[in-house]
Amino acid sequence: GVEIHLDNVSKRYPGQRTAAVDEVTMTIPAGETVVFVGPSGCGKTTTMKMINRLIEPSAGRITIGGEDALKLDPDQLRRRIGYAIQQAGLFPHMTVGQNVGVVPGLVGWDKNKIADRVEEMLDLVGLEPGEFRDRYPRQLSGGQQQRVGVARALAADPPVLLMDEPFGAVDPITRGNLQDQLLRLQSELGKTIVFVTHDFDEAVKLGDRIAVLGDRSKILQYDTPDAILAN
Ligand code: ADP
Ligand code: ADP
Repeated sequence: GVEIHLDNVSKRYPGQRTAAVDEVTMTIPAGETVVFVGPSGCGKTTTMKMINRLIEPSAGRITIGGEDALKLDPDQLRRRIGYAIQQAGLFPHMTVGQNVGVVPGLVGWDKNKIADRVEEMLDLVGLEPGEFRDRYPRQLSGGQQQRVGVARALAADPPVLLMDEPFGAVDPITRGNLQDQLLRLQSELGKTIVFVTHDFDEAVKLGDRIAVLGDRSKILQYDTPDAILAN
């Protein structure tokens, strides 16, 4: 498994008076799911993007599996981290199949293996491959786009998943199935998962631990769901 460690991590955006994330220190244990809950604007997305190196911390250090995140090149990051976001962020000029296959392609899988994996991932998120593979993102509902985004994040089988409100637009039944799939990936494959949600039931269901964040991502509580519910 892969542990993620944040050591005194801060982010101040240019022109902002206060930091978006202020001196956060936290360990996300290997093979566990940690759920971030906290008010809008408290820095959850900023923290996820720093782990993924989409933005650089202003200060502090992040390690992924003991390696300094700043020293990982884009290829190494893609092999380690799958990222799924609320807005799905699909490439509009690529089909669903091409979107799901993009990371395996970048890291050098052969064509047949990618095609099989795309089918497997679309099945996993409950989208019939024959019906959806050749569609473009604009031909999908918001919830379907999110499911493709999740399939894309999982496609190259990375040990770490960063998921930022990935199921917000998904209908409740499908959402339950996707949650079950994540639980399975965590327990059977030992994935390390960081998950952001506003849905406390979802946090309790998925989280080995829940991090309750306040302003500037200050950690107010960091404990098991049972312990947090007892408070
Ligand atoms: P959350 O994900 O918890 O809603 P964010 O990480 O998106 O919070 O935002 C944290 C703070 O940083 C907010 O005050 C937000 O307005 C600010 N922020 C986010 N992105 C930028 C940016 N690119 N430039 C300036 N400020 C930003
Ligand atoms: P949801 O209930 O997930 O919000 P929608 O009502 O948006 O779904 O869409 C219902 C169905 O119509 C879905 O199967 C979706 O794939 C299809 N659909 C939505 N928009 C388009 C489009 N622009 N072109 C083709 N099919 C579409």
